[in-house]
This record gives sequence, C-alpha cells and structure tokens, in this order.
Amino acid sequence: MNAEIIAVGSELLLGQIVNSNARFLSQQLAVLGINVFYHTVVGDNPDRLRSAIEIAEKRSNLIIFTGGLGPTKDDLTKETIARHLGKELVMDIAALESIELFFKKTNRVMTENNKKQALVLEGSTILQNNHGMAPGMMVENGNCIYMLLPGPPKEMEPMFLQFGRAALSNQVKTNDKIVSRVLRFFGIGEASLETEIMDLIEQQTNPTIAPLAADGECTLRLTAKHQDIQTAESMLDETESKIRARAGEFLYGYDNTSLVAELMKLLKEKNVKISAAESLTGGLFQQELTSFPGVSSVFKGGVVCYTNEVKEKVLGVKKETIENYGVVSQECAKELAENVAALVSADIGISFTGVAGPDELEGKPVGTVYIGISIKGKQTVVEKLELGGSREANRTRSVKYGCYYLIKHLQESQKAN
Ligand code: ATP
Ligand code: MG
Repeated sequence: MNAEIIAVGSELLLGQIVNSNARFLSQQLAVLGINVFYHTVVGDNPDRLRSAIEIAEKRSNLIIFTGGLGPTKDDLTKETIARHLGKELVMDIAALESIELFFKKTNRVMTENNKKQALVLEGSTILQNNHGMAPGMMVENGNCIYMLLPGPPKEMEPMFLQFGRAALSNQVKTNDKIVSRVLRFFGIGEASLETEIMDLIEQQTNPTIAPLAADGECTLRLTAKHQDIQTAESMLDETESKIRARAGEFLYGYDNTSLVAELMKLLKEKNVKISAAESLTGGLFQQELTSFPGVSSVFKGGVVCYTNEVKEKVLGVKKETIENYGVVSQECAKELAENVAALVSADIGISFTGVAGPDELEGKPVGTVYIGISIKGKQTVVEKLELGGSREANRTRSVKYGCYYLIKHLQESQKAN
C-alpha cells in the first residue's frame, strides 16, 4: 500500500504552523509497513484541493487528509471530497448526539453550523472523536482508500491511534507483525555513523535501518517484519549486533530513553550521590536531573558558579589556578569537581566550565569546554570538548557530554572493580 498525506490548511502554507501531522502519520504508517511516498500541503481552497486529490489518486492508493473538518466556512475537506467522488454527505446520528452532548456539558449554545460537523461521507466508516467534535472517516472508492482526520493534533493523534490504525491494518493484507527498535548513539556524528554501517544500510531490506540525527545525537530505527514476533525480534537482535560491532561504544540506550535518564538509572543502581558545579551551563545539568521524580536519592545539590568570585569563595578554587590557567582550563574543572563533591559530601562531583559564546574568553575559542569528573576513590578526570556552535547548542551539548562521559567512567570503574 502506497500512501500520500494531504494536509489541508492555508496556515501551513503561510508558515504559521509546521506540518507536524504529516510527521506523526508518516511515523505511524511506517510501523504498519505502509510506504509513504508523498506529503502534500494545500490551502483552504476547493479547486486546488481537488487538483491535489486528482494527482494523489494517480500515484497512491491510500490518501490521508488532515484538517478542514471543522464547522466554519473555510473547512471544506469533506465537501470537496464528496463532490469529487460523487458521494452524498449524510448526517451521522451518533456524531450529532455527541456534539449536542458536548454543548450541553459545556453550557454553550450550539449553532446551526456545528451540525455540519456531524455530516459524513455516505458509506464511510466513522472514526470517533473523543477529544473534539468532528468525527473522522474512512471510505473506499475505486482503487483508493480515503481517510479524513481533523487538523488539531490533540484530536487527530488519539483518533488515529485508537481507530485509524486498526482500520488501516485491516486493509493491509498481510499477517506480518512489525517490530521496531530505536538505537540511540552519542559522541559520533551522523555522517561517521552512516559511514561505519554504510554497507548494512545499502543491503537493508528486512530489517530496515533508518538513521536520524537531532540535538547532537543520532538514532537508528530498525524495523523488522515477520509473521512471528519472536522471529522478528531475533532479526532485530542480529542486525543490532552487526551495528554494535562497528559503533557499539557510542550506543547508549534504546527507544525513548535519554542520556540523563540513563545516567539516573546508573546512579540509582550504584546507589551513589552526585553534586555539580556549573559555570557555562548555569544549572542546566541540575535542571535536567531534577526533572526526574525521586532524584533526591541520587542528587545532593550543587552550585551555579558563574563568576570567578563564586568559584573561589564558594567552591574554593585557588586564586593561582585561575591566574595561571584561567577558569576555562583543565585545572579549574578538576578543582571545581573535587571541591563541589567535598562541599556537599557527595560520592561524585561533576563540573562544567567553558566558553558558551558568542564571544571568546581568555583567548579560548567559543565552544571550548572542560568537564571535570570526580568519583570517590578514583583519580579525577577532565574531558575537553571543542564544540563551537551557538550559545544554546554549546550549553545543551555540554550537559549531554557530561552525562555521556560520566556514564562511561562509572561503567569503567564498575569493570575495574
Ligand atoms: P477545527 O474543528 O479546530 O477547525 P479542523 O479539522 O477544521 O479543526 P483546521 O481548521 O484545518 O482543522 O485546523 C485547526 C488547527 O489544527 C490549526 O489551526 C492548527 O493549529 C492545527 N493543524 C491543522 N493542520 C495541521 C497540521 N498539518 N500539522 C499540525 N497542526 C495542524
Ligand atoms: Mg477548521
């Protein structure tokens, strides 16, 4: 089955909103094993919508529309499709009742045009809207299936997950089960990762390997199809182990995890407490850490040591260290990490000092960052980064690198023991 997604809405063409519906649906269809070959965006104009439908019908046998199911004059998706297919719009009693109930519940007066939302294409399967008023629908005509979904993601996404997905998987005439696994990498660029596994990507059929990069991280989504779920899982295992052999040292987790989440897990497992001294990151690391409930069992607190004064007075960095090496230095990062751990009696101290930008500091270029890691009973290590992006990117990447290195060092000390 080859699908096309037609997002209807002039606000998309004007650049007022991004087409997140297409992204969501593409990801969902991939899981169902349905190819998405085209994304189309068209304004709220019946003639242009109609010509988009005519083009889509020539190259796709599933067309999913989002938007334009509302009660107002510019909402014309249903009407245009009805005219195009020569179908009537009929009142769906269940939908009408639920719209009436919605108005009663919210004590609002229902206007005549709201009834329009209960009109559906004759012969269609209704997709119930549990988060709004306009029902979605699916109808088959000729060789093509048409699915109409509302525009607001808060309505569209749950409708698709609850009803649309099942309606489509009934249409996909296969007994194959689809299993996906996302491998998350850090510390390796997308291009290098792709180079490492280029031959695997080129040979891919089943499982497929789809790379994606965002926020300094790369992911590979592996998707396997097989009638037997267990077999599909072992196909994923096999592909994963081939990838691990090439880039395993950069693999840090699976699916929806994050570096901070993995770090939290490890700290809990080892039952150790951490503290942080943050200069350029200004508390970002601690903010990330404290976004997890139950963090108090592993996090003691820390210091935002933005100025030299705080580095010296609160964290006891030696005057000579700053005079001789500067604050953006290995020496300063080491003292910060060791001293913050001592200050709050933590097992681990991590420090971030560097040049966020836009201006250089102490003659050191933007993106120079030192991360100090002091683990009780071990030699303190300092990792140097040369990032050089925007101020924001330098700060957020520093935090990610901090988590990444800390995980590595904690795992190494585990191995050593
Ligand atoms: P409503 O009943 O709210 O009018 P509708 O089905 O008629 O819903 P539209 O009027 O086309 O949908 O869009 C309503 C809102 O939904 C838009 O203002 C926008 O915020 C969001 N939306 C529409 N299309 C998309 C899209 N492709 N991606 C993300 N958001 C969208
Ligand atoms: Mg609308």
